[in-house]
Amino acid sequence: MTVGLAKSDRDVSREMLQGQEALAAQSPLAIRGLTVSYGEKPAVFSVDMTVEPGQMTAIIGPNGAGKSTLLKAALGIVAPVSGRGTIFGRPLAEQRARIAYVPQRASVDWDFPTRVIDVVLMGLYRELGLLGRTKASHRAKALSCLERVGMADFASRQIGQLSGGQQQRVFLARALAQEADLYLLDEPFAGVDAATEKAIISVLKSLREAGKTVVVVHHDLATVVDYFDNVFLINTRRVAEGPVAQAFTEATLQAAYGGRLATTQLDHLTQG
Ligand code: ADP
Ligand code: MG
Repeated sequence: MTVGLAKSDRDVSREMLQGQEALAAQSPLAIRGLTVSYGEKPAVFSVDMTVEPGQMTAIIGPNGAGKSTLLKAALGIVAPVSGRGTIFGRPLAEQRARIAYVPQRASVDWDFPTRVIDVVLMGLYRELGLLGRTKASHRAKALSCLERVGMADFASRQIGQLSGGQQQRVFLARALAQEADLYLLDEPFAGVDAATEKAIISVLKSLREAGKTVVVVHHDLATVVDYFDNVFLINTRRVAEGPVAQAFTEATLQAAYGGRLATTQLDHLTQG
């Protein structure tokens, strides 16, 4: 920078762009200008997101706000109309092995017979290869992941016979088996019992302690302050993003939910 010379607008905007790119390069998940549409109306519109490394971030917004779509686009499960994303500064295609995803439970149909241990072994498919035979070491690893979610005793049970909360723990065990750096979970606490919720949050916190990044679509506003470092509020467009204390406020919730939340609730939720 030359002393005594005012920076031109062009310099300033170039520096801002470079700053954005530097942020994206360090971020486990950075999204720029993402628009996704299933029909005429976009489900996600022009969204930027920069996930902080080594922290827990909640994606929050009303039903139909585009939360699941945002994750699916980040994972390449749905194709965007426009926009791009990077995983730890690199294209998704090069980084798949570093991401573990737990989809919304309702979207998985477990009518066909599959044992719990086999569900977790699916998380090891990169080590196993397509027709790979499971070795004792793979089974031991799968079992230790089940242990971490308190489901080791259910290893031989059929997944379809478990309760919703138990299934959710098994899907988390599968994600753990992948040994990823970025964990994306879509409403992991929806419809689970209190014991499962405690088990899941404690596993997620241990992942964060190990330096992993955790992003959770979350529907329970009452636990946000307690569970998360950051929030990303969305209602088709990004409403707010940042540390809970700054981005999870009456004003941002009002902006995301509109009239769907009573004002009396808001004070209490944000503890402010
Ligand atoms: P959220 O997870 O926040 O509830 P979604 O991302 O599931 O929201 O959905 C966003 C919008 O896109 C909603 O209006 C929903 O009805 C629509 N949508 C989601 N998935 C599909 C799909 N496969 N086909 C058509 N519309 C969809
Ligand atoms: Mg959803």
